[in-house]
Amino acid sequence: MSERTLYQMMLSDFMKWQNSERDANGKYAKLWAKANGGKATYPDAQEYSRIIADKWSELLKKYCGVDSGVSGMSSDELATQVSKALEQCYKGSSYYSSKVQDGINKSVGLNINGVEGKLDRTRITRLIEKLKNGESVTEDILITAETEWLIDKPVVENISMSAVTDTIQENARLHTEAGLYSYIERKQGAGGCCDWCASVAGRYIYGEQPYDFFKIHKHCNCQITYMPSRQRWQNITFTTDSKGKISKNIEDL
Ligand SMILES: [Zn+2]
Repeated sequence: MSERTLYQMMLSDFMKWQNSERDANGKYAKLWAKANGGKATYPDAQEYSRIIADKWSELLKKYCGVDSGVSGMSSDELATQVSKALEQCYKGSSYYSSKVQDGINKSVGLNINGVEGKLDRTRITRLIEKLKNGESVTEDILITAETEWLIDKPVVENISMSAVTDTIQENARLHTEAGLYSYIERKQGAGGCCDWCASVAGRYIYGEQPYDFFKIHKHCNCQITYMPSRQRWQNITFTTDSKGKISKNIEDL
């Protein structure tokens, strides 16, 4: 009998999947190529976080879900395995996001590395609490048919996507403290998202955004981006008048 924990088995499956995705040269590999080339954007990070969240959700179901056949573990032990998987998913997403920020920093001549978002652990403990409050939780069962939705794709995606916005906030905070102007923007996806998202969408100087600006709800299609410089959001042109005087025109894009 293998001594590996459920988490180790999930991680091993995840790493195998990563390798096969790299070889397949699909979306996953393309997103990494973009990040390594310094060309990835925060919408790319959102897409990446969704892809890995879907994989982690699948693995959580396979090893810890109702049909996993897991037995002989206390619900606390099982909760630890689920937490570790969710943390790893968050870490992967915030690591990719920090690579996005590296590229953005370089593109505006900022010679500092991006930093990763910091996990707010209460996000995970709240989810575990909900699992434990499931109606038919007994000693060695954590996830039931009634609570399995808590490891479904949308819920795991939500945790994974929070790593992207946490990374934006962490970098914007550092840059603002260093005296740089930081700009953040929230845009709804094609066809709009919802009334609430419409109310917080827009472009702001970091620190002046509406309360809950960074909040991403389930099935949210909004994109949040960050730029430690105004240049990229402006079209700057120069005109010369009849006397040869040059003037600079700034148009917000
Ligand atoms: Zn939205």
